Amino acid sequence: MEEYIVSALKYRPLTFDSVVGQRTLTATLKNAVRSGKLAHAYLFCGPRGVGKTTCARIFAKTVNCLSPDANGDPCGECESCKAFAQGRSMSIHELDAASNNSVDDIRELCRQVQIPPQVGRYKVFIIDEVHMLSASAFNAFLKTLEEPPSYVIFILATTEKHKILPTILSRCQVYDFARMTLQGTVDHLKYISQKEGITAEDEALHLIAQKADGGMRDALSIYDQMVSCCGNNLTLEAVSDALGVLSADSYFEMVDHFINKEVQPCLVLLNNIISEGYEGGNFMNGLAAHLRNLLVARDASTLPLLDTSENLRARYQEQAARCNVRMLYRALRLCNDCDNQYRTSRNKRLSLEITLIECAQIDPDAPAGGLRPTKLAPFFTQPVAAARKQTPAAAAPQEQNKTPHVVAATPSQPAPAARVRLSTLGPRLRMATAPKPDTPSVQTTETPELQVSAVALKLTDKDLLRTWTEFANMLQLEDKAMSMRMLQMKPDTTGPESFSVTVSNEQVKTYLLQISSRLIRYLRRSLLMPNLRMDISVTPYETVQQSLSKKEIFQNYMSQNNSLQTLVDEFKLIVE
Ligand SMILES: [Zn+2]
Repeated sequence: MEEYIVSALKYRPLTFDSVVGQRTLTATLKNAVRSGKLAHAYLFCGPRGVGKTTCARIFAKTVNCLSPDANGDPCGECESCKAFAQGRSMSIHELDAASNNSVDDIRELCRQVQIPPQVGRYKVFIIDEVHMLSASAFNAFLKTLEEPPSYVIFILATTEKHKILPTILSRCQVYDFARMTLQGTVDHLKYISQKEGITAEDEALHLIAQKADGGMRDALSIYDQMVSCCGNNLTLEAVSDALGVLSADSYFEMVDHFINKEVQPCLVLLNNIISEGYEGGNFMNGLAAHLRNLLVARDASTLPLLDTSENLRARYQEQAARCNVRMLYRALRLCNDCDNQYRTSRNKRLSLEITLIECAQIDPDAPAGGLRPTKLAPFFTQPVAAARKQTPAAAAPQEQNKTPHVVAATPSQPAPAARVRLSTLGPRLRMATAPKPDTPSVQTTETPELQVSAVALKLTDKDLLRTWTEFANMLQLEDKAMSMRMLQMKPDTTGPESFSVTVSNEQVKTYLLQISSRLIRYLRRSLLMPNLRMDISVTPYETVQQSLSKKEIFQNYMSQNNSLQTLVDEFKLIVE
C-alpha cells in the first residue's frame, strides 16, 4: 500500500522561492545569504504555521550548500544538501523551547555550540517558541548569544514577540512573518490539488483557508482531513458539511428575507438551521460576517476587504446592490449586539429570534440613531400577503427604501398622520375603528400601512395560538406561574375578531384579568386586529379535571382501600 504522507510534509518548501506568502521576507533572506552578509542571530516572529521553521531550515540548508547555483539556491547535490535532505545533517540543531526550557537544556545547547561543523560552513541552531524559555535558561543563553563562535547562527522563532526580552531583541535581526492571505492559501491548496489529482471547488478551498485563519500548516492539515473524509472531489457542500460550517446560501437567504421584510421565513429558516445541528451562536456570528461582507461589497474602495472566491464575490455584490446601506449597518449592529449578549442570555434561541425579527423590520428611513425599528411591520398572518398584492410599495420592498412613503415629521401635518410612522398601534386602531374620510392629512396613496389594516382580517386558531404562546413565553421571566397557566390554556376563536378562553376557576380568571390589558394589546398588535376581543369563561366544576390537595388524594385512596381507614383509626392519625 502506498504510504500516505501528510501534505504539510510532502509539500514543505525546499527553497526560499517556494515559500508561500512571505515573498518580501524570503527575498531579503536570500539576498543576505547570496551577499554573505549574515547576522549571528535572527528572530522570526509570526503566527503559527506560516513558515518560520521552514524558512529557518531552508536558511540553514542554503548557507551550508557547497555549490549554490547562480540564483543563490542550494544545489541539492552536494554532501551537505544530501545530509539535509536525509535529515542527518550535523549542521542544524533544533530545540523546541516549549518542552525543553530548562537551564540544563540550554547548557547542552551551549556545549554543542562549541563544536565546529564538519561539513559546510555554519552550524545553525533553531530555537522554536523561544519565549517559553525559563528566566534562568534565558540568562544562561544570553552570554552565548552575545558572543557566539563565528560559525554559529541562531535562529529564534516565536509566536509571541512581545514576550521576548529586550536584551534578546536587541541582539537579533528581526523578521516579521505575515499571516497568510486567504487567496495565498487557496492558491497553494489549488496547486497541491493539481499535483495530487484532486478536483476541488474554489469555494471549498476558500472555506478550508478561512477555517485555518491564516496558518498554512493548519490549512494543509484540514485539507488532508477533508480529502480523507470526502474523497478526491472536494465540493463546497461536502466540505462545509464535514467542517460543520453553515454554507453561505443560508446567509444569503436570510438577508433576502430581511430585504423583503419577511419575518416568518426568517424564523423558519433559523429553525431549520438549528435543527440541522448548527449552533445558534455560530450562526449569528456568521450572519454578522455576512452582513459585513455585504457592506464592504457595496463600495469599490472597500471591495478588496472582501476576502472570498470570485463566485461568492459576485453574489455578495449582487445582494449588496439590493440592500439599503443603512439597513445593512443597523442589521450589523443588531447582530453584533446579539452576539455580545448571546453567551449570557438565558433564552438563547429567543434572543436569536428577536434579533432576526428586528432585522427583518428595519426601517432605513427611521431617524438616525434609533437602531431599533420604530415601526413594526405586520408579521405573520396571511392577509398581509394578500394586501401586498394591492400595494405597489409593499410589492417592491427595496423601492420602499428609496421613496419615503409617509412623511413622518412634516410640521404642518396634524398629529395623527405623524404618528402613523412613530406609533405602532394607535393610528391603526384609530383608522380601523373610526375611518374618517374627511381627514385630509392621511392620504391613502401615501400610507400603504393603513390600507393593509383596512383589509378585512380574520382571526384563525393557528395565528391566535401562536401569538398567545409568544406572549406566554415572554411572560416567563417575570411571572413563571402565569406563563405556565397560559401555556396550558387553549384559546378558541369565536368570531372574525374575537376569541374565548376557558379557565378552571375564578382565581385563575382573576389572574388572567390582571394581565389581560397587556395581553390584548400584544395580540392586537401582533395580529393587526385593533378590535380583537377576549372572553374569559369559567367552566363548571365537574367537567374540569381539578387538581387535588394532598388531603383529597388521601381521602380518595381511603375510600378505595379500607385498611387505610383502619390505619388512621388505629393510630389516631390526623389527615390534613
Ligand atoms: Zn548543495
